[in-house]
Amino acid sequence: MQKALQPVLELSRDLYALRAAVGVLSWDQETYMPPKGGEGRARSLASLARVMHQRFSDPRLAEALEAAATAAGLSEEERAVVRELRRDRDKAVKIPEALAAEIAETVSLSQRVWAEARPKNDTRAFNPWLAKVIALRRKEAECLGYAETPYDALLENYEPGARTSYLRGLLTDLKAQLVPLLGRIRTAQGDAADPLAGKVFPLEGQRAFNQTILAAMGFDLEAGRLDESAHPFTEGTHPEDVRLTTRYSESDLMSALFSTLHEGGHGLYEQGFQSEFFGTPMAEAVSLGLHESQSRLWENQVGRSRDFWSRYYPDLQKVFPGPLGALGLDGFLRAINRVQPSLIRVEADEVTYNLHIVLRFELETALFGGELEPEGLETAWNEGMRRNLGIAPSAPSQGYMQDVHWSCGLLGYFPTYTLGNLRAAQLFDAARAALPGIPADIRAGSFGGLKGWLNREVHRHGRRYDGDALMEKVTGRKTETKPFMDYLETKYGELLGIR
Ligand code: ZN
Repeated sequence: MQKALQPVLELSRDLYALRAAVGVLSWDQETYMPPKGGEGRARSLASLARVMHQRFSDPRLAEALEAAATAAGLSEEERAVVRELRRDRDKAVKIPEALAAEIAETVSLSQRVWAEARPKNDTRAFNPWLAKVIALRRKEAECLGYAETPYDALLENYEPGARTSYLRGLLTDLKAQLVPLLGRIRTAQGDAADPLAGKVFPLEGQRAFNQTILAAMGFDLEAGRLDESAHPFTEGTHPEDVRLTTRYSESDLMSALFSTLHEGGHGLYEQGFQSEFFGTPMAEAVSLGLHESQSRLWENQVGRSRDFWSRYYPDLQKVFPGPLGALGLDGFLRAINRVQPSLIRVEADEVTYNLHIVLRFELETALFGGELEPEGLETAWNEGMRRNLGIAPSAPSQGYMQDVHWSCGLLGYFPTYTLGNLRAAQLFDAARAALPGIPADIRAGSFGGLKGWLNREVHRHGRRYDGDALMEKVTGRKTETKPFMDYLETKYGELLGIR
């Protein structure tokens, strides 16, 4: 590492050490913290957030970054460290402290109101808070500045470099292809009962099987853990301490398995950075859209494939001979790939999932732009659901109040889920083109080739490239809908015999 970078590295490692502490406290809050610990924990997290903001505003950081930015002889990766730290610092100092505090407080209150209002479908309690949160995000966007439209400033928080206009084009194109495919699949599929429904899968067997799969993927259990939480997540506190969670249900075997594969994919990304850059943006994911591509690739392209289950289904049958003994591989594959329009995004299958995201994107850009007010959201939601999926909820708890995101002002977040799905298919194609043995490896339960390719092509670059620049470098093209649509067409063509 260049000497000119030393002062920057020291300050950066200090910042990332604080961030790691925040990570462990947040992980603990969702896993092992006793119920009464909430208030004390919130205070610790708020104090750490203040210290981090002070560190970002510290003139020594600005000076060190300026000096390093003009230093000669830095490698491209070292320049990326300086560029990305400057980006983070600029963002942090552009928001006045009073506004940052107002956002933090409002968002925390709004989330509490949402949690209470949702089960009661109390839109009159929630809507004014939603309006407040959106107004604050507009102020934030004005402070941050933007390329074309204020919503771009929010995208920058999750998918640096992405533009609203570009995402609108991508999602409109995707919707136009998914709606007719959904119709064809539904016709071919008929309405046979789900062979996994009503069965019981004891948790002990599930836990052991999930640990086996996670280790087989190449997740280093000496540098990470798998625990349980209400909502599965990954907390990458440090590349050598990556915390994953999953959730088990006796009546739903696949929920935990797909969560483990999903979070395992996130976990491999978090463990895949270059050790010399630990404590810098080069040991951090590019964007949420890229992160989600890693989780979806393992969950879907690998974990819902015939190749994967031709290796693991016999093992799974041995663990659960009662419920699975009489169900063959073909029936199992149709069951885990079943397409069914549903109200809840997180339970959606691969075909309908992105239609949920398209709706959220359409509505949140309208809300943010002022063309839609929270009072009109329920009607707009139900119309959109009917148009995209042919069903609509009878209550907002199953509709626009289902996700936590809007209550905490996470606008610009939803599109990254679809970027992840599209990129997963596109990257998996590129991996197989580079290493044609991957399908046979998967059939043998050997994932080293695929994991190594992802480490080399995606993970080790940290934040050196933005999301689409990395896609272009690795696959030759920006994020597109075609590889994903081809993947769905091929898969459902084979499963259901449709063209
Ligand atoms: Zn994810």
